[in-house]
Amino acid sequence: MDFLPIFLNIKEKNCLVVGGGEVAARKAGVLLDAGAKVLVVAPEIDEALARHPGVTPLFARFDVPHLEGVTLIVAATDDRAVNTMVSELARARNIPVNVVDDPKLCSFIMPSILDRSPLIVAFSSGGSSPVLARMLRGKLETMIPQSYSRLVAFAERFREVVKTRVTNPAKRRIFWENALEGVIAEKVLTGDEASAASLLEQLMADEDHIARGEVFLVGAGPGDPDLLTFRALRLMQKADVVVYDNLVSKPIVEMTRRDATRIFVGKKRDDHTMRQEDINQLLVRLAKEGKRVLRLKGGDPFIFGRGGEEIETLAAENIPFQVVPGITAASGVASYAGIPLTHRDYAQSCMFVTGHLKDGTMNLDWDALARPKQTVVVYMGLHGLDVLCTELVRHGMPDTTPIAIVQQGTTPNQRVITGTLATLPAIAEREKPQAPTLIIVGGVVTLREKLAWFHPKPV
Ligand code: SAH
Repeated sequence: MDFLPIFLNIKEKNCLVVGGGEVAARKAGVLLDAGAKVLVVAPEIDEALARHPGVTPLFARFDVPHLEGVTLIVAATDDRAVNTMVSELARARNIPVNVVDDPKLCSFIMPSILDRSPLIVAFSSGGSSPVLARMLRGKLETMIPQSYSRLVAFAERFREVVKTRVTNPAKRRIFWENALEGVIAEKVLTGDEASAASLLEQLMADEDHIARGEVFLVGAGPGDPDLLTFRALRLMQKADVVVYDNLVSKPIVEMTRRDATRIFVGKKRDDHTMRQEDINQLLVRLAKEGKRVLRLKGGDPFIFGRGGEEIETLAAENIPFQVVPGITAASGVASYAGIPLTHRDYAQSCMFVTGHLKDGTMNLDWDALARPKQTVVVYMGLHGLDVLCTELVRHGMPDTTPIAIVQQGTTPNQRVITGTLATLPAIAEREKPQAPTLIIVGGVVTLREKLAWFHPKPV
């Protein structure tokens, strides 16, 4: 380790920045964020920097008297001779000095900072590759939400109370682990501190609660892992057990915590590996064992996902749960296929329906679906494509209405097959699209010619 990382308290202290350009302004900004009073010395000083509250500008060349009473110095001029002089004078007086982009002249270096005050993470490559340190910071930036600040403040607020109420140190550690990772943390992160505080109270009142499991019902989107939400990703990396089905793409399953147990519960058409009722019970059982259970579902859990039924059972059993929305197939697939679901000239509304066949028919409100100027998106509709086209035409939709089938949308196997209500059933028969497929009906389908940006295997 070439440098000792420490966090310095410079509140109200005088710090000196030598230089008045853009880099100096950036460094001064960090010092100001940490509560310092900043003296900026340079013949020319950036206007905004000079006017910044907390900054005292001194339009002059750097000189020895400027070091008087100074706690810390940053040299950010483009003149190496000046930088060297500042560095030597500072070091002779034991004042910590940083010279921008010149590690040899530094007695301290400035890290890349991830600020979730009071939580602060500092990254440094010891001057070897600041870009690399910044890239790493960028990665963590996406993993640690802005609202983490609130979580740290929340923990601080309850620290003493918890100490007096949960006296056993080992239990206290588990208590905090659960609180800072579970529902309580999620409540704080989403801004609901009142519920978080009352849950924390409950947890303290009932020590058995400490090992209580919970369920995350998470929408994984239509396939492309890039379409996951940050919250989904965070919970995916936290869960002890993952319960997933067919629609969740393989690369997404692989992004769950490496040492988590993965349980496949199937659900292909006509091949229900596990009945819905059994899935509901499985979630209950795992949570009761104290596990953090991730129920991963394709698309959005509340859109044709039976998410409602799963959480009904959890609620009845008093098991904590949270629901994370995902990008539903209609919206993901439409974007990737270049078909806007609404458009001023073609559709003012959009309907999502399920085309699941029951006894060879579809139980849908055909008159409502056949209305002009709307888009109809049919989930689970491929097997009923004939019925769909026939009924729409019979209820007044022109048989020239454009219609598309999108196979495995947003994945590398995406394929779009287009036609009209009159022609598509025969085309589909020939092309044999592979599940899952989504059907989009309406004038918006024609826009695809102009708007598609992603069709790896166009048809
Ligand atoms: N909850 C899911 C839908 C589950 S129903 C969601 O919000 O997307 C399953 C149906 O979703 C499939 O039969 C298919 O019609 C559609 N679907 C899901 N993912 C898809 C994809 N990547 N491409 C095309 N259709 C998809």
